[in-house]
Amino acid sequence: MKEAKLYQKLKEKRLKCLACSNECIISNGKKGICGVRKNINGKLQLLVHGMPCAVHVDPIEKKPLYHFLPGSLAFSIGTIGCNFKCPWCQNWDISQNRDENFFSKELLTPKKAVSLAILYGCKSIAYTYNEPAIFSEYIKDIAKLAKKEGLKNILVTNGYFTKESFDFLNKEHLIDAANIDLKAFKDETYRKYCGSVKGIKPVLENIKRFHKAKIHIEVTTLIIPNLNDSKKELKQIAEFIASIDKNIPWHISRYFPQYKMDEKKHPVTKIETLKLAEKIGKATGLRYVYIGNV
Ligand code: SF4
Ligand code: SF4
Repeated sequence: MKEAKLYQKLKEKRLKCLACSNECIISNGKKGICGVRKNINGKLQLLVHGMPCAVHVDPIEKKPLYHFLPGSLAFSIGTIGCNFKCPWCQNWDISQNRDENFFSKELLTPKKAVSLAILYGCKSIAYTYNEPAIFSEYIKDIAKLAKKEGLKNILVTNGYFTKESFDFLNKEHLIDAANIDLKAFKDETYRKYCGSVKGIKPVLENIKRFHKAKIHIEVTTLIIPNLNDSKKELKQIAEFIASIDKNIPWHISRYFPQYKMDEKKHPVTKIETLKLAEKIGKATGLRYVYIGNV
């Protein structure tokens, strides 16, 4: 646990968290939506600083990033908690976990994270599995040391950073690459399913923001039948990416029903649907469209 930096003090010991665009107002003794940022006596504490619950060495292609350090390994770190509650979450057991006993028993200090990444021959550190914005301060402490050792820093994110949290990480050019989810093109999907407070707008802004900052980005969409697989919506997503840069890779990922998803209403994605999305992406002018998770 460590005091967070991304917050503002309000009256009566209440706080406004600035780590993600939910911008929770947190009363004394309470946590924000993500469950890992707690107001303790008028100070915001990041409960998971140094306390990841998932640490693995993954091929970078698994993030997925296909155009950044291909063939290399990424030292991957995730914590419990998330600012979203997607009912299709593949990592729901950690992202929706609010059990403080689920934190790692052994502290993974920033120094130790960097030493382990080097020991395992990784070229980068990826902040992944759950939403990294919620543990931005832990990222910054690791990323600064990683950078000094020549390692790259990668975010695998739902794109819900605030301008403040983005600047906090980007000020010293600490982030080199990101895979950003674009889960749908409907504001309602973000609000109703993901539980995001401000809908899709921050995600679209952040894709532009990351690109403008010259951070290498790739975009992923999990194609879910009867949710985001209409021709119209796929075209809107592809057109949005292409309007920023036709060289941004678009990963269209196959969905398998799990967690809270109703298998009858949202069955596994047909290969034909993925091929249709690929065709739409290419027709829009995107140069790199990849079908994944098949
Ligand atoms: S990171 Fe987001 S969800 Fe978590 S407390 Fe801060 S504003 Fe709320
Ligand atoms: S944003 Fe990602 S990690 Fe969080 S609930 Fe949604 S799918 Fe899971």
